[in-house]
Amino acid sequence: MRLDKLLANTGYGSRKDVKALIKKKHVTINDHIVKNSASQVNPEKDSVKVNHKTLHYREYIYIMLNKPSGYVSATVDDRDKTVIDLLSSDYRLFNPFPVGRLDKDTEGLLLITNDGKLGHQLTSPTKAIEKTYYAEINGDVTEADIAQFWLGVQLDDGYTAKPATLDILQAGARSHVHVTVTEGKFHQVKRMFEAVEKQVVFLKRIQMGNLVLDDQLKPGHYRELTGTEVENLN
Ligand code: URA
Repeated sequence: MRLDKLLANTGYGSRKDVKALIKKKHVTINDHIVKNSASQVNPEKDSVKVNHKTLHYREYIYIMLNKPSGYVSATVDDRDKTVIDLLSSDYRLFNPFPVGRLDKDTEGLLLITNDGKLGHQLTSPTKAIEKTYYAEINGDVTEADIAQFWLGVQLDDGYTAKPATLDILQAGARSHVHVTVTEGKFHQVKRMFEAVEKQVVFLKRIQMGNLVLDDQLKPGHYRELTGTEVENLN
């Protein structure tokens, strides 16, 4: 493949940035200084170094973010800070995007990648990937709500939500629950509780498919997925 494409894919910026690096003689292939950004390189066999540092080729990045409240799930936004703003510039060079959306005030597990095919698969309604949330609810969540969620609650626009699993962790005036849904409608969980006359006051996603939020990650912190986590994504 072309050297400039390889470098751009591995996070060294646009083709223009890469050209500048090459012009400054910062790039070598098999220890020979490169003069032409269109040089061909075999990422499996050739040793490419930038500023004497060996390049480890990879096309895709997979990041687990514990999304904090106050950030929107988008790549750019005129008004708000985005989840992409939380990443270091090294990662932002890969043009990553969040897989699916969490509301601005929702916390928890968000997968960020530049693997468009995977992102599409994981959000496709036909895949019906399970998403589990921890929620704190204003109101006493009851067995009747569990039954109602399993039958499918009717949302404010008349749509009947697909069966969802509700587990009560703590009942009372402010209940704590786990809720698992297979859809990703706008404000889905909040609207499901509104349908049973209760209000979500805190929402945090803890699992998406096989991917479980790492409880070592504080809000706003992130890490790359392990190889096994990537393999088990779908
Ligand atoms: N359901 C919601 O209501 N909000 C989210 O952010 C995610 C699911």
